[in-house]
Amino acid sequence: MQLQDLQISGRRVLIRVDFNVPLSPPDALGVRAVTDDTRIRAAMPTIEAVLAAGGSAVLMSHLGRPKSADAAFSLRHIVTALEALLGRPVNFATDCVGDAALDVTQALMPGEVALLENLRFHPEEKKGDEFFAGQLAENGDCFIGDAFGTAHRAHASTATIAKFFPNDRAMGLLMAREVEALSQLMEAPQRPVAAIIGGAKVSSKLAVLKNLLSRVDQIFIGGGMAYTFIAARGGKIGNSLAEPDMYGDALELLTQAASSGVEIILPTDALCADKFARDAQVQTCPIDEIPDGWMGLDLGPASRGEFAARAREARTILWNGPMGVFEFENFSAGTLAMADALVHATSKGAFTLVGGGDSVAAINAAGLAEKVSYVSTGGGAMLEYLEGRILPGIAALD
Ligand code: AMP
Repeated sequence: MQLQDLQISGRRVLIRVDFNVPLSPPDALGVRAVTDDTRIRAAMPTIEAVLAAGGSAVLMSHLGRPKSADAAFSLRHIVTALEALLGRPVNFATDCVGDAALDVTQALMPGEVALLENLRFHPEEKKGDEFFAGQLAENGDCFIGDAFGTAHRAHASTATIAKFFPNDRAMGLLMAREVEALSQLMEAPQRPVAAIIGGAKVSSKLAVLKNLLSRVDQIFIGGGMAYTFIAARGGKIGNSLAEPDMYGDALELLTQAASSGVEIILPTDALCADKFARDAQVQTCPIDEIPDGWMGLDLGPASRGEFAARAREARTILWNGPMGVFEFENFSAGTLAMADALVHATSKGAFTLVGGGDSVAAINAAGLAEKVSYVSTGGGAMLEYLEGRILPGIAALD
């Protein structure tokens, strides 16, 4: 069901949001501040829609990875930021279940907002516990799932809870946008379709790469993971990052790509460093002739130019993972060139989707997030979707 089909007026709408935001270290009083409110802002359209339709909003989320109740991970730390974005007060409940929650949520009037304490203060949340999900469900008359970032987890608040609202549950606006953007990429995209995949390790992206073989025309591989492919082909990679136990899988992927007619584009040169540091000595090397003691930390100038020029010609582009150690300014040019290429392609009418924590951080740092078609809020969830898996948090809402 879509949000607009849900009966909202006069009802308490329980919304699973993703408020798992970064916080500053605690001050002298133990108070922490939100350092990046992107995820809170992403949840606003759904909350505003519920309030505008005459409902009250009961928000629930996890924050961090506490094993049990822990003041450092209290959602109380985000109340000020949430109130500022909403422009109205937020009633904070010191627990997400039991009387502490019900006292707040049962007193809500239309237009009012409650925030429940961190779901992960209860180990039952991650176990997908049915009794706990039932307790959570008492806080609402209907349910909206809008936490795309945790949709790949079968937790009590993301999946189990849906069964308590068989006729009163819907996808939130953020979740619906994420699903629409990803399906635009995966089903009937405009061709050619290019995937730009980077990041540290092949092992964490292998399933995605395999699944993409049946959907894309080109895969550009950059970042630390490229060196595993180069070494597997017999290249000399010096001290670059590599996963020798993945050499077999890397070669198999190259063979599968060739037989599926998918072009895999690996870097031909690397910007190398004599140590893993911001102030390392730098030299450009052919990708398969990196001297001992040196490591590739970014695309070299030739690869950067080739990746960017070719990516700009694609009609649909997925970008996940940085092309180098972009956190160090000297090794950020490859990643920034991809951000520029996506912006250029978007301006020519291509559909461009960026996802995954580091590529999103890079496009934000470059100030270009508004100039691509879609920036996904869910790193792990997006990767599992791209692997072709069914996400429990989405399936539960069907
Ligand atoms: P991932 O989480 O797998 O997307 O990896 C992101 C991380 O990969 C970032 O912190 C980058 O600094 C790192 N990374 C990218 N390229 C390299 C490289 N050539 N060598 C080492 N680390 C890299």
